[in-house]
Amino acid sequence: MANGKANRMLEAKIERKVKETIDRYSLCSKKDRILVALSGGKDSTTVAYLLHKFGYNIEGFHIDLKIGEYSEKCLKAVKELCKMLNIKLHLYDMKTQMGSGMCYLRSAIQEASGKGKLKNCAVCGVIKKWIFNREARKLGMTKIATGHNLDDEAQTFLINIFKGSPQLSLNSGPISKNVSDKKFIPRIKPLFYVLENDIREYTKSKNLPVVYDKCPCSFDSYRIQVREFLNTLEEKDKEKIIKNFEKLYSKLKIIKNPQIKYCSKCGEPARKELCKKCELLILNR
Ligand code: SF4
Ligand SMILES: [Zn+2]
Repeated sequence: MANGKANRMLEAKIERKVKETIDRYSLCSKKDRILVALSGGKDSTTVAYLLHKFGYNIEGFHIDLKIGEYSEKCLKAVKELCKMLNIKLHLYDMKTQMGSGMCYLRSAIQEASGKGKLKNCAVCGVIKKWIFNREARKLGMTKIATGHNLDDEAQTFLINIFKGSPQLSLNSGPISKNVSDKKFIPRIKPLFYVLENDIREYTKSKNLPVVYDKCPCSFDSYRIQVREFLNTLEEKDKEKIIKNFEKLYSKLKIIKNPQIKYCSKCGEPARKELCKKCELLILNR
């Protein structure tokens, strides 16, 4: 098939899936002010590109994690994208705002918690979520959009099942509906049903400013194993995993409806006395 035709088909497929996901789960409306969590990678870049194309009111938010040259490339790509789309970009500098870059902060927390207990992405993810929620609220945003794709979600769902804790998948789903609180900004995942490979091809065909290098800190051997296993499956099988997730998700929501409190240290939404980010930072003392 000629490249042009294949690209047009891929474009139509991705756009249809994203529109269907937005409609089916009421992810956002034209009244929403959506903060797109931009990493510089292909997924969040595609989210910003498509939401902008569909006429949603978006602004970009980038956390400069200060992971050496990798972060410099990401920052450059994000700036280029926001300029291209003519959208506002909010920058959060880890060193200035939190006193150190993600590598340093994460290593200190991991060391204090005991070797091998906390995975890199788990620590980084908790801190980033805390920053996104707080900053989005300060900016008066009504939704936070992230780049999670079907492969990411299928991996997480399987990992939680293998761990014997499918209820951990409660935090997944195209929209974070299980938490309802005035201080909590709902997170949406417009690429929930889009395959990672399709996103990669899409960004290449559109020539979008994207950093394709892997984050140098993303070595979680268990997730890599699960990813490799999933990559041996056909597209329809990955989709079936997500369909099964949906069935379980609706049941789990009935079983568990977490009560939200406010962290006694930072005031952010929390399930316990302290939010997850403050629990981690207390280790680093
Ligand atoms: S890959 Fe992991 S360590 Fe790297 S930015 Fe993402 S969550 Fe953080
Ligand atoms: Zn806190």
